[in-house]
Amino acid sequence: VRFDTVNPPGNEEPAIRRLGEFLEQAGIVVEYQRLSENRLNLVARIRGSRSGHLVLCGHIDVVHPGAGSWEVEPFGGVITDGRLIGRGSADMKGGVAAMAQAMADLAGEHFQPKADLILAVTAGEEVDMAGAKLLSSTDLLSGASRIVIGEPTSLDVFRAEKGVFWTRVTAHGRTAHGSMPNLGVNAISFMARLIIRLEEYPFAFEPSDVLGNPTISVNVIDGGVKTNVVPDRCRAEIDMRLVPGQSRADVLGRLKALMEEIRAEIPVRTEVDILQDVPAVETPADDELVQATASIVNEVSGKKPTIGGVSYGTDGAIIAPSLGASMVIVGPGAPEQAHQPNEYVKIEELESAVEIYKGLARRLL
Ligand SMILES: [Zn+2]
Repeated sequence: VRFDTVNPPGNEEPAIRRLGEFLEQAGIVVEYQRLSENRLNLVARIRGSRSGHLVLCGHIDVVHPGAGSWEVEPFGGVITDGRLIGRGSADMKGGVAAMAQAMADLAGEHFQPKADLILAVTAGEEVDMAGAKLLSSTDLLSGASRIVIGEPTSLDVFRAEKGVFWTRVTAHGRTAHGSMPNLGVNAISFMARLIIRLEEYPFAFEPSDVLGNPTISVNVIDGGVKTNVVPDRCRAEIDMRLVPGQSRADVLGRLKALMEEIRAEIPVRTEVDILQDVPAVETPADDELVQATASIVNEVSGKKPTIGGVSYGTDGAIIAPSLGASMVIVGPGAPEQAHQPNEYVKIEELESAVEIYKGLARRLL
């Protein structure tokens, strides 16, 4: 937590190197993968003799601590009342630390897995999943069939996540004096109609039993220069969260068809840029990884975990589909602690997480 890995810019290298030293001291082979200056991914491995590898995966970058309301130094790594407090303690240096400790414990016991046990720690998750994308573009994880993401879940088990589909629509109209709007083409008027119809527009989908319905939210708007000038440009950014089975081509097609319809009323020129495109993923409830995780959480912590889904994207959405692997999310810390002031993780949950990750390796490998 004391390493400042706020992303942007990330600067994950010192924290990743420290983690690598810890793993090497436990006798584990560590490889690094460079994203850019001062930014690395880490891949550590206890080798088995066949494929069907198990990947423990987490990210080491964090979001900015924000303007205020911290009662402790966000990068102090303060431990008090059974809690580690600080930016990234729950999201998700706690999960990464628990995974690394599980690897070290298993190496210390001379654990001999059937297939590889891999720890993959990424840079760059919080902005654009740059580390996961780089990792997926190489063969470092090839042969893996299961992936465990250690994002904070309060040790519940999540087997699905919504897709993230962000777009920016820009409308170009024609400016005119504000007293003669009939001579212009008002880009803000176009965008206003688009937003209202988007919010009502029936995108095709099958509801998911763990993820519910897709969502749409227009979260940025920008246009116009002066009260008496008809705006010739307006830009909006749209955050859509998709469910499995929903085709992004279809969603984009419907967005464009809607724009076409409104262009017949207000003849602007339009552009659509895709800002983020991470697919929805879902592992079946009866998958062995889901079943094993739920039963080990119960054995270790005594709690009967909720098995559900999350509305946000993780590195798993990039890595699991690229490998054809099943995925679960299970980690220490409460999901609602993520990105908050005074973020913390309970030490007890960190310790349980170590045992859960070790239990998974023993059972599945
Ligand atoms: Zn996270």
